Amino acid sequence: MTKVIKELNKWKAIRKSDVFLNKTVGLVPTMGALHDAHLALIKKSIQQNDITVVTIFVNPTQFNNQKDFKNYPITIKEDLSKLKKLNVDFLLNPSYEDIYPDNYEYKVVESNLSKILCGKFRPGHFDGVLTVVLKLLNLVKPDRAYFGEKDYQQLKLIEGLVKAFFIDTKIVSLPTVRTKEGLALSSRNLRLSEEQKIKAVEFPKSLASSLSNDKIKSLLRKKGFKVEYIEQIDNRRFGAVYLGNVRFIDNVKI
Ligand code: AMP
Repeated sequence: MTKVIKELNKWKAIRKSDVFLNKTVGLVPTMGALHDAHLALIKKSIQQNDITVVTIFVNPTQFNNQKDFKNYPITIKEDLSKLKKLNVDFLLNPSYEDIYPDNYEYKVVESNLSKILCGKFRPGHFDGVLTVVLKLLNLVKPDRAYFGEKDYQQLKLIEGLVKAFFIDTKIVSLPTVRTKEGLALSSRNLRLSEEQKIKAVEFPKSLASSLSNDKIKSLLRKKGFKVEYIEQIDNRRFGAVYLGNVRFIDNVKI
């Protein structure tokens, strides 16, 4: 049975209780609108741990664009039925007030990797991500926490956070889950029209091609994308683009 907990005081009491005694704990942080990629992370956690905790919290401090925050899809009823089907132990669905008793006066700031790629175009985004992840790790105290490679820069920053602050949690990552056409699953895809969904496939396809970054940019622009960046670091190509007002990020190993 999936236990739904909204109040952090209640959660803290349960976390201290015998329910967790000698049990391994897996944490899967999400912003909800759950799709198959979230479910893959959750299934991995269920496989590897005695207790799995999923969090759904649309974290306002990681949105640099208020409109994007307001438009972020919320499908909590459907999410809960997916979690129940998998028999997830706990869904933690806290309020802003509970997560930010300090009203975000304290934050985690990384000064290197968080300033490039998405960090350059979304000032403050990774401060919000790292701060909320630190809070969730402290609240749940998991043995393992699960993140997707779709958000590769985020994954690397979280690995760095855990190392920098001596957090006793193993970060487990899973490869990007895609539609059969190649589009990375994302909650924001819910906001695409059918026509946009078909066009969107050009983005991962071009990232994986042998074209240069500049060629990819001009190709995508010609097809109606607004391009934020296409960049290669080591053997991985990263990109962020818009179709209409929907932003996509992706990365592929090349
Ligand atoms: P979100 O709800 O978008 O914050 O994502 C929650 C977790 O799911 C993060 O660790 C994401 O990296 C991961 N995730 C989202 N979409 C995908 C995907 N298509 N493939 C793999 N992981 C994903």
